[in-house]
Amino acid sequence: MVVLSINGVNALEQNDNVNQMTQTQNNLTSNTSNTSNVTGTSTKAEAASNLTNQIKYNYQVSIPYTVEVKVAVKQAYQVKVAYKAKVAVKKWYKSYGKWKYKYVYKYVTKYKYVTKYKTVYKLQNQTRYTTENRTGYYYLSNYISAANSTSSPQFSIVINGTGGDVTKNSLIKKYLPQSTITNQVLALAKIGTPMVKFGNGNGPTVMIIAGVHGNELPASIAAMKLINYLNGKEINGTIYVVPFLIPANTAKSYRLWKGQNPNSVAQYSGTVTNNIIKLAQKLSVDALGDFHSTQPGGVPGKNSALYTKVPTYESYLIASFISKQTGSALIGDTVAGQKYPGAVEDVSNLAGIPAVTCEVKSSHGTVASGSVDKSYAQMLAFLRYKKMIK
Ligand SMILES: [Zn+2]
Repeated sequence: MVVLSINGVNALEQNDNVNQMTQTQNNLTSNTSNTSNVTGTSTKAEAASNLTNQIKYNYQVSIPYTVEVKVAVKQAYQVKVAYKAKVAVKKWYKSYGKWKYKYVYKYVTKYKYVTKYKTVYKLQNQTRYTTENRTGYYYLSNYISAANSTSSPQFSIVINGTGGDVTKNSLIKKYLPQSTITNQVLALAKIGTPMVKFGNGNGPTVMIIAGVHGNELPASIAAMKLINYLNGKEINGTIYVVPFLIPANTAKSYRLWKGQNPNSVAQYSGTVTNNIIKLAQKLSVDALGDFHSTQPGGVPGKNSALYTKVPTYESYLIASFISKQTGSALIGDTVAGQKYPGAVEDVSNLAGIPAVTCEVKSSHGTVASGSVDKSYAQMLAFLRYKKMIK
Protein backbone atom coordinates (compact mmCIF):
# COMPACT_ATOMS: atom_id res chain seq x y z
CA MET A 1 0.00 0.00 0.00
CA VAL A 2 1.30 3.37 -0.94
CA VAL A 3 0.73 6.05 1.58
CA LEU A 4 0.70 9.65 0.66
CA SER A 5 0.32 11.50 3.88
CA ILE A 6 -0.65 15.08 4.17
CA ASN A 7 -0.37 15.80 7.81
CA GLY A 8 -1.77 18.95 9.25
CA VAL A 9 -0.58 20.62 12.39
CA ASN A 10 -2.85 22.35 14.76
CA ALA A 11 -1.11 25.44 15.98
CA LEU A 12 -3.45 27.00 18.45
CA GLU A 13 -3.02 30.59 19.42
CA GLN A 14 -3.20 30.06 23.15
CA ASN A 15 -0.20 27.83 23.60
CA ASP A 16 1.17 27.44 20.12
CA ASN A 17 1.13 23.72 20.58
CA VAL A 18 1.51 21.39 17.73
CA ASN A 19 -0.97 18.65 18.21
CA GLN A 20 -0.45 15.52 16.32
CA MET A 21 -3.88 14.25 15.69
CA THR A 22 -4.87 10.69 15.85
CA GLN A 23 -5.46 8.94 12.63
CA THR A 24 -8.79 7.61 11.72
CA GLN A 25 -9.50 5.48 8.76
CA ASN A 26 -12.11 6.45 6.26
CA ASN A 27 -11.98 4.55 3.08
CA LEU A 28 -12.80 6.69 0.15
CA THR A 29 -12.85 5.65 -3.40
CA SER A 30 -11.78 7.92 -6.20
CA ASN A 31 -13.72 11.13 -6.59
CA THR A 32 -15.14 10.84 -3.14
CA SER A 33 -14.66 13.62 -0.69
CA ASN A 34 -15.41 13.94 2.92
CA THR A 35 -16.53 17.00 4.75
CA SER A 36 -16.93 17.80 8.35
CA ASN A 37 -17.83 20.69 10.54
CA VAL A 38 -16.58 21.87 13.84
CA THR A 39 -19.27 23.98 15.33
CA GLY A 40 -18.82 26.94 17.58
CA THR A 41 -17.87 26.57 21.20
CA SER A 42 -17.69 28.97 24.06
CA THR A 43 -14.13 28.84 25.36
CA LYS A 44 -10.69 28.53 23.91
CA ALA A 45 -10.07 25.36 25.86
CA GLU A 46 -13.20 23.83 24.55
CA ALA A 47 -12.30 24.89 21.04
CA ALA A 48 -8.85 23.39 21.41
CA SER A 49 -10.31 20.19 22.68
CA ASN A 50 -12.78 20.07 19.86
CA LEU A 51 -10.08 20.73 17.34
CA THR A 52 -7.92 18.00 18.72
CA ASN A 53 -10.66 15.48 19.10
CA GLN A 54 -12.98 16.26 16.30
CA ILE A 55 -10.73 17.41 13.51
CA LYS A 56 -9.57 14.04 12.54
CA TYR A 57 -9.46 13.67 8.87
CA ASN A 58 -7.95 10.82 7.10
CA TYR A 59 -8.72 10.54 3.46
CA GLN A 60 -7.69 7.22 2.22
CA VAL A 61 -7.96 6.66 -1.47
CA SER A 62 -7.33 3.00 -1.86
CA ILE A 63 -7.34 3.29 -5.62
CA PRO A 64 -4.62 3.88 -6.56
CA TYR A 65 -2.95 5.26 -3.51
CA THR A 66 -3.65 6.36 0.00
CA VAL A 67 -4.03 9.95 0.97
CA GLU A 68 -4.11 10.80 4.60
CA VAL A 69 -5.07 14.32 5.41
CA LYS A 70 -4.95 15.80 8.82
CA VAL A 71 -6.14 19.32 8.86
CA ALA A 72 -5.63 22.08 11.30
CA VAL A 73 -5.98 25.81 11.31
CA LYS A 74 -4.12 28.51 13.01
CA GLN A 75 -6.61 30.66 14.74
CA ALA A 76 -6.25 34.34 15.20
CA TYR A 77 -8.19 35.84 18.06
CA GLN A 78 -11.52 34.23 17.94
CA VAL A 79 -12.70 31.11 19.59
CA LYS A 80 -15.47 29.97 17.39
CA VAL A 81 -14.32 28.12 14.41
CA ALA A 82 -16.02 26.17 11.75
CA TYR A 83 -14.62 24.87 8.56
CA LYS A 84 -14.68 22.10 6.13
CA ALA A 85 -11.87 20.30 4.47
CA LYS A 86 -12.22 18.53 1.19
CA VAL A 87 -10.11 16.36 -0.91
CA ALA A 88 -11.12 15.98 -4.50
CA VAL A 89 -9.27 13.43 -6.50
CA LYS A 90 -9.11 13.62 -10.25
CA LYS A 91 -8.22 10.92 -12.68
CA TRP A 92 -4.86 9.70 -13.83
CA TYR A 93 -3.65 11.48 -16.92
CA LYS A 94 -0.50 11.69 -18.92
CA SER A 95 1.59 14.81 -19.08
CA TYR A 96 5.07 15.16 -20.57
CA GLY A 97 5.31 11.42 -20.87
CA LYS A 98 4.47 10.75 -17.24
CA TRP A 99 1.29 9.45 -15.77
CA LYS A 100 0.13 11.47 -12.88
CA TYR A 101 -2.78 11.94 -10.60
CA LYS A 102 -3.88 15.32 -9.43
CA TYR A 103 -5.30 15.82 -6.02
CA VAL A 104 -6.81 18.97 -4.68
CA TYR A 105 -7.81 19.77 -1.20
CA LYS A 106 -9.68 22.78 -0.05
CA TYR A 107 -10.42 24.37 3.23
CA VAL A 108 -13.71 26.13 3.28
CA THR A 109 -13.95 28.57 6.10
CA LYS A 110 -17.10 29.88 7.55
CA TYR A 111 -15.48 32.59 9.59
CA LYS A 112 -13.04 35.16 8.38
CA TYR A 113 -10.89 35.04 11.46
CA VAL A 114 -9.51 31.68 10.54
CA THR A 115 -6.48 33.31 9.06
CA LYS A 116 -3.88 30.80 8.27
CA TYR A 117 -3.40 27.20 7.32
CA LYS A 118 -0.29 25.29 7.77
CA THR A 119 0.00 21.89 6.27
CA VAL A 120 2.77 19.39 6.39
CA TYR A 121 3.06 17.01 3.49
CA LYS A 122 4.71 13.74 4.05
CA LEU A 123 5.32 12.11 0.76
CA GLN A 124 7.18 8.90 1.44
CA ASN A 125 10.37 10.04 3.16
CA GLN A 126 10.17 13.64 2.13
CA THR A 127 8.48 16.20 4.27
CA ARG A 128 7.33 19.49 2.86
CA TYR A 129 5.55 22.40 4.40
CA THR A 130 3.17 24.74 2.80
CA THR A 131 0.64 27.32 3.75
CA GLU A 132 -1.02 27.93 0.44
CA ASN A 133 -0.34 25.20 -2.02
CA ARG A 134 -3.45 23.12 -2.09
CA THR A 135 -2.87 21.18 -5.25
CA GLY A 136 -0.49 18.33 -5.73
CA TYR A 137 0.44 15.61 -8.13
CA TYR A 138 1.24 12.04 -7.56
CA TYR A 139 3.22 10.16 -10.17
CA LEU A 140 2.73 6.64 -11.30
CA SER A 141 6.46 5.95 -10.94
CA ASN A 142 6.20 6.88 -7.26
CA TYR A 143 3.28 4.55 -6.88
CA ILE A 144 5.06 1.63 -8.48
CA SER A 145 8.40 2.13 -6.72
CA ALA A 146 6.75 2.60 -3.34
CA ALA A 147 4.62 -0.47 -3.86
CA ASN A 148 7.71 -2.41 -4.85
CA SER A 149 9.68 -1.32 -1.84
CA THR A 150 7.07 -2.15 0.76
CA SER A 151 5.60 -5.50 -0.15
CA SER A 152 6.69 -8.70 -1.75
CA PRO A 153 4.58 -8.53 -4.92
CA GLN A 154 5.91 -6.13 -7.51
CA PHE A 155 3.66 -4.31 -9.91
CA SER A 156 4.31 -3.03 -13.36
CA ILE A 157 2.56 -1.99 -16.52
CA VAL A 158 4.03 -4.03 -19.29
CA ILE A 159 2.07 -2.84 -22.32
CA ASN A 160 0.74 0.66 -22.83
CA GLY A 161 -2.43 1.62 -24.63
CA THR A 162 -4.40 -1.44 -23.53
CA GLY A 163 -5.85 0.03 -20.35
CA GLY A 164 -9.46 -0.09 -19.29
CA ASP A 165 -11.67 -0.21 -16.23
CA VAL A 166 -12.37 -3.91 -16.00
CA THR A 167 -14.87 -3.35 -13.20
CA LYS A 168 -17.19 -1.92 -15.87
CA ASN A 169 -17.68 -5.54 -16.76
CA SER A 170 -20.38 -6.52 -14.26
CA LEU A 171 -19.28 -10.16 -14.09
CA ILE A 172 -15.68 -9.22 -13.42
CA LYS A 173 -16.87 -6.85 -10.74
CA LYS A 174 -19.08 -9.53 -9.24
CA TYR A 175 -16.52 -12.31 -9.07
CA LEU A 176 -13.21 -10.54 -8.40
CA PRO A 177 -11.80 -11.17 -4.94
CA GLN A 178 -11.94 -7.94 -2.97
CA SER A 179 -8.64 -6.88 -1.47
CA THR A 180 -5.98 -4.22 -1.52
CA ILE A 181 -3.89 -6.12 -4.02
CA THR A 182 -6.93 -6.48 -6.28
CA ASN A 183 -7.41 -2.71 -6.14
CA GLN A 184 -3.78 -2.12 -6.98
CA VAL A 185 -4.03 -4.32 -10.03
CA LEU A 186 -7.32 -2.69 -11.10
CA ALA A 187 -5.78 0.76 -10.81
CA LEU A 188 -2.88 -0.19 -13.05
CA ALA A 189 -5.20 -1.96 -15.50
CA LYS A 190 -6.84 1.40 -16.16
CA ILE A 191 -3.57 2.52 -17.67
CA GLY A 192 -2.23 -0.54 -19.43
CA THR A 193 -1.53 -4.25 -19.13
CA PRO A 194 -0.75 -4.94 -15.46
CA MET A 195 1.69 -7.57 -14.32
CA VAL A 196 2.35 -8.78 -10.79
CA LYS A 197 5.61 -10.47 -9.86
CA PHE A 198 5.99 -12.83 -6.92
CA GLY A 199 9.19 -14.35 -5.60
CA ASN A 200 12.77 -13.22 -5.63
CA GLY A 201 14.53 -14.87 -8.50
CA ASN A 202 15.66 -18.16 -6.99
CA GLY A 203 14.41 -21.26 -8.76
CA PRO A 204 12.31 -21.44 -11.91
CA THR A 205 10.58 -18.50 -13.57
CA VAL A 206 7.12 -18.82 -15.06
CA MET A 207 4.49 -16.57 -16.55
CA ILE A 208 0.72 -16.94 -16.36
CA ILE A 209 -1.40 -15.00 -18.82
CA ALA A 210 -5.14 -14.50 -18.91
CA GLY A 211 -7.40 -12.21 -20.89
CA VAL A 212 -5.83 -12.67 -24.32
CA HIS A 213 -9.50 -12.83 -25.27
CA GLY A 214 -11.41 -10.14 -23.39
CA ASN A 215 -14.66 -12.10 -23.59
CA GLU A 216 -13.20 -15.09 -21.74
CA LEU A 217 -13.77 -14.04 -18.18
CA PRO A 218 -13.20 -17.15 -15.99
CA ALA A 219 -9.43 -17.18 -16.57
CA SER A 220 -8.98 -13.51 -15.67
CA ILE A 221 -11.00 -13.97 -12.49
CA ALA A 222 -8.98 -17.10 -11.68
CA ALA A 223 -5.73 -15.17 -12.27
CA MET A 224 -6.87 -12.52 -9.80
CA LYS A 225 -7.74 -15.27 -7.35
CA LEU A 226 -4.23 -16.62 -7.86
CA ILE A 227 -2.66 -13.20 -7.27
CA ASN A 228 -4.55 -12.95 -3.99
CA TYR A 229 -3.49 -16.47 -3.06
CA LEU A 230 0.20 -15.91 -3.86
CA ASN A 231 0.33 -12.63 -1.96
CA GLY A 232 2.45 -13.32 1.12
CA LYS A 233 3.07 -16.97 0.22
CA GLU A 234 6.45 -18.66 0.17
CA ILE A 235 7.27 -19.32 -3.45
CA ASN A 236 10.03 -21.35 -4.97
CA GLY A 237 11.11 -19.21 -7.91
CA THR A 238 9.53 -16.28 -9.67
CA ILE A 239 5.96 -16.08 -10.89
CA TYR A 240 4.70 -13.39 -13.24
CA VAL A 241 0.94 -13.07 -13.51
CA VAL A 242 -0.75 -11.03 -16.23
CA PRO A 243 -4.44 -11.24 -15.32
CA PHE A 244 -5.77 -8.94 -18.05
CA LEU A 245 -3.70 -8.81 -21.20
CA ILE A 246 -6.05 -6.22 -22.71
CA PRO A 247 -8.05 -4.60 -19.91
CA ALA A 248 -9.92 -2.39 -22.40
CA ASN A 249 -11.35 -5.54 -23.98
CA THR A 250 -12.13 -7.28 -20.70
CA ALA A 251 -14.04 -4.16 -19.65
CA LYS A 252 -16.41 -4.74 -22.58
CA SER A 253 -16.22 -8.53 -22.92
CA TYR A 254 -14.76 -7.88 -26.33
CA ARG A 255 -12.68 -10.39 -28.25
CA LEU A 256 -10.88 -8.59 -31.06
CA TRP A 257 -8.16 -6.04 -30.58
CA LYS A 258 -7.48 -3.61 -33.42
CA GLY A 259 -9.67 -5.76 -35.61
CA GLN A 260 -7.65 -8.90 -35.01
CA ASN A 261 -7.89 -12.02 -32.91
CA PRO A 262 -4.94 -11.50 -30.55
CA ASN A 263 -4.37 -15.24 -30.38
CA SER A 264 -3.75 -15.51 -34.10
CA VAL A 265 -1.22 -12.69 -34.53
CA ALA A 266 1.37 -13.43 -31.83
CA GLN A 267 4.05 -14.02 -34.46
CA TYR A 268 3.81 -10.43 -35.68
CA SER A 269 5.99 -7.79 -34.09
CA GLY A 270 4.02 -5.00 -32.47
CA THR A 271 0.96 -7.02 -31.49
CA VAL A 272 0.09 -7.28 -27.80
CA THR A 273 0.58 -11.04 -27.82
CA ASN A 274 3.96 -10.69 -29.49
CA ASN A 275 4.92 -8.06 -26.93
CA ILE A 276 4.11 -10.34 -24.03
CA ILE A 277 6.12 -13.22 -25.50
CA LYS A 278 9.08 -10.91 -26.05
CA LEU A 279 8.76 -9.85 -22.43
CA ALA A 280 8.73 -13.49 -21.34
CA GLN A 281 11.96 -14.02 -23.29
CA LYS A 282 13.53 -10.95 -21.74
CA LEU A 283 12.57 -12.19 -18.27
CA SER A 284 14.02 -15.65 -19.01
CA VAL A 285 10.71 -17.36 -18.38
CA ASP A 286 11.06 -21.15 -18.19
CA ALA A 287 7.40 -21.96 -18.83
CA LEU A 288 4.37 -20.04 -19.97
CA GLY A 289 0.70 -20.79 -19.34
CA ASP A 290 -1.98 -19.06 -21.37
CA PHE A 291 -5.44 -19.44 -19.87
CA HIS A 292 -8.68 -19.20 -21.83
CA SER A 293 -12.28 -20.36 -21.89
CA THR A 294 -14.08 -22.13 -24.67
CA GLN A 295 -17.70 -22.14 -25.83
CA PRO A 296 -19.70 -25.32 -25.32
CA GLY A 297 -19.81 -26.89 -28.78
CA GLY A 298 -16.81 -24.82 -29.89
CA VAL A 299 -13.17 -25.82 -30.40
CA PRO A 300 -12.08 -27.50 -28.18
CA GLY A 301 -15.38 -26.99 -26.32
CA LYS A 302 -14.25 -28.66 -23.09
CA ASN A 303 -11.92 -28.26 -20.15
CA SER A 304 -8.56 -29.01 -21.67
CA ALA A 305 -4.80 -28.56 -21.68
CA LEU A 306 -3.21 -28.04 -25.10
CA TYR A 307 0.38 -28.64 -26.14
CA THR A 308 2.75 -29.23 -29.03
CA LYS A 309 5.72 -31.61 -28.79
CA VAL A 310 8.07 -30.00 -31.31
CA PRO A 311 10.27 -28.01 -30.80
CA THR A 312 9.63 -27.85 -27.03
CA TYR A 313 8.72 -31.27 -25.69
CA GLU A 314 8.20 -29.86 -22.23
CA SER A 315 4.99 -28.27 -23.51
CA TYR A 316 3.59 -31.80 -23.65
CA LEU A 317 4.90 -32.68 -20.18
CA ILE A 318 3.30 -29.62 -18.63
CA ALA A 319 -0.04 -30.19 -20.35
CA SER A 320 0.00 -33.87 -19.30
CA PHE A 321 0.60 -32.91 -15.71
CA ILE A 322 -2.20 -30.31 -15.72
CA SER A 323 -4.51 -32.77 -17.45
CA LYS A 324 -3.92 -35.44 -14.79
CA GLN A 325 -4.19 -33.04 -11.87
CA THR A 326 -7.36 -31.32 -13.00
CA GLY A 327 -9.21 -33.83 -15.15
CA SER A 328 -8.80 -31.61 -18.21
CA ALA A 329 -8.62 -33.26 -21.62
CA LEU A 330 -5.14 -33.53 -23.06
CA ILE A 331 -5.12 -32.17 -26.59
CA GLY A 332 -2.01 -31.84 -28.69
CA ASP A 333 -0.37 -31.31 -32.00
CA THR A 334 3.04 -32.40 -33.08
CA VAL A 335 4.68 -29.27 -34.38
CA ALA A 336 4.09 -25.78 -33.02
CA GLY A 337 2.88 -23.12 -35.42
CA GLN A 338 1.23 -25.40 -37.96
CA LYS A 339 -2.39 -25.51 -36.85
CA TYR A 340 -2.42 -22.24 -34.91
CA PRO A 341 0.50 -20.19 -36.25
CA GLY A 342 -0.29 -17.03 -34.31
CA ALA A 343 -1.33 -18.52 -30.97
CA VAL A 344 0.56 -17.43 -27.86
CA GLU A 345 1.27 -21.07 -27.04
CA ASP A 346 2.70 -21.87 -30.47
CA VAL A 347 4.79 -18.73 -30.86
CA SER A 348 6.12 -19.16 -27.33
CA ASN A 349 7.04 -22.81 -28.02
CA LEU A 350 8.76 -21.81 -31.24
CA ALA A 351 10.67 -19.17 -29.29
CA GLY A 352 11.94 -21.89 -26.97
CA ILE A 353 9.69 -21.19 -24.00
CA PRO A 354 7.63 -24.30 -23.21
CA ALA A 355 4.01 -23.20 -23.27
CA VAL A 356 0.53 -24.60 -22.83
CA THR A 357 -2.95 -23.28 -23.45
CA CYS A 358 -5.57 -24.17 -20.88
CA GLU A 359 -9.27 -23.93 -21.60
CA VAL A 360 -12.33 -24.15 -19.38
CA LYS A 361 -15.86 -24.51 -20.66
CA SER A 362 -17.84 -21.28 -20.42
CA SER A 363 -19.71 -19.35 -23.08
CA HIS A 364 -18.06 -16.13 -24.17
CA GLY A 365 -18.95 -13.19 -22.00
CA THR A 366 -20.20 -15.45 -19.21
CA VAL A 367 -18.84 -17.16 -16.12
CA ALA A 368 -20.17 -20.70 -16.15
CA SER A 369 -20.63 -22.44 -12.82
CA GLY A 370 -17.34 -24.01 -11.72
CA SER A 371 -15.33 -22.52 -14.58
CA VAL A 372 -13.33 -20.11 -12.41
CA ASP A 373 -12.43 -22.89 -9.97
CA LYS A 374 -11.37 -25.14 -12.84
CA SER A 375 -9.22 -22.44 -14.43
CA TYR A 376 -7.70 -21.70 -11.02
CA ALA A 377 -6.97 -25.41 -10.51
CA GLN A 378 -5.22 -25.47 -13.90
CA MET A 379 -3.06 -22.51 -12.85
CA LEU A 380 -2.13 -24.17 -9.55
CA ALA A 381 -1.28 -27.38 -11.39
CA PHE A 382 0.91 -25.40 -13.79
CA LEU A 383 2.82 -23.98 -10.80
CA ARG A 384 3.01 -27.39 -9.14
CA TYR A 385 4.52 -28.90 -12.25
CA LYS A 386 7.45 -26.55 -11.69
CA LYS A 387 7.32 -27.23 -7.93
CA MET A 388 6.85 -23.54 -7.22
CA ILE A 389 4.10 -24.02 -4.68
CA LYS A 390 3.06 -26.97 -2.55
ZN1 LIG B 1 -9.42 -17.71 -25.99
